[in-house]
Amino acid sequence: MAHEALLYEKDDRNRTTCGLCAHRCRIEPGRRGLCGVRENREGALYSLVWGMVIAENVDPIEKKPLFHVLPGSRSFSIATAGCNFRCSFCQNHEISQMPRERNRIVGRERSPAQIVERALASGSRSISYTYTEPTVYFEFALETAQIAAERGIRNVFVTNGYMTPAMLDLIAPSLDAANVDLKSFRDDFYRGQCGARLQPVLDSLRKMKDLGIWVEVTTLLIPSLNDSEEELGELASFIASLGKETPWHISRFHPQYRMMETPPTPAASIHRAAEIGRAAGLRYVYSGNIPGDPGENTFCSNCGRLLIGRCGFTIERMELAGSACPGCKTPLDGIFL
Ligand code: SF4
Repeated sequence: MAHEALLYEKDDRNRTTCGLCAHRCRIEPGRRGLCGVRENREGALYSLVWGMVIAENVDPIEKKPLFHVLPGSRSFSIATAGCNFRCSFCQNHEISQMPRERNRIVGRERSPAQIVERALASGSRSISYTYTEPTVYFEFALETAQIAAERGIRNVFVTNGYMTPAMLDLIAPSLDAANVDLKSFRDDFYRGQCGARLQPVLDSLRKMKDLGIWVEVTTLLIPSLNDSEEELGELASFIASLGKETPWHISRFHPQYRMMETPPTPAASIHRAAEIGRAAGLRYVYSGNIPGDPGENTFCSNCGRLLIGRCGFTIERMELAGSACPGCKTPLDGIFL
């Protein structure tokens, strides 16, 4: 459904400039922005994906991954088609790139109120805006998040972090947490593999922390592309500069989309990156996409006691006194109520 967009400007030739993400597309009348889901109609910018839900599932919150937000709870997870990135390794490319590659926008019609009702009925404690990129369906996500917040449901974004500061200001009062992909610490990587730039992602991460949003960071480790010790050291230091309580998920790559020739990440590379994260002072560093790996567990940052034991997205044991270590009473960072 077409729905007038937020955050755009129009010039005297009816061209619109979209202010949702750092691409800041200038769009001629009758044309669409880079994401393929925002269209200039006679000088007014429209979202073409409002209420067009292409994916809707009840997931464990661990799948986002968010390990420090209501662990063990369900998260009602939605997406529309479209993305402002074109990552060569995208695992959801069939829906994220559908508008650009197939000129198609499809989905089941849902209103924000219906999404919230379905989330409540499913026993979910949060709604995740995920799978594709919530920035490009922002108007729908914002309205849904505002209703959800009124009904006591948390809201989380799983995002590439390429939104503008103005967008973050609008969503912040309703947004509890975000998992942000920090895909590399090299601008060349962002330009070559994603069609984007690094700096806006770093800026968003800082601003989210300033706005009080709980942030976890994910890096997909791709052999020979973003796994040098030097780059990982810089990336880990940046995360530590946001706050040492910021969890870092280091995820294993599997061949997909345009990167079928690249081998899966060896587990040893994930473990080496985790060591680099711990050496940077990060309290919580996790292995991803290696089910059963000890690096999936949460330990007390003070005494080292096992607090949450996981296998994949399943919690096998959880020993907390409220939200603190039952041994030394050190609080576990995150959102637990
Ligand atoms: S959200 Fe889409 S139209 Fe807007 S600036 Fe980003 S890519 Fe361009």
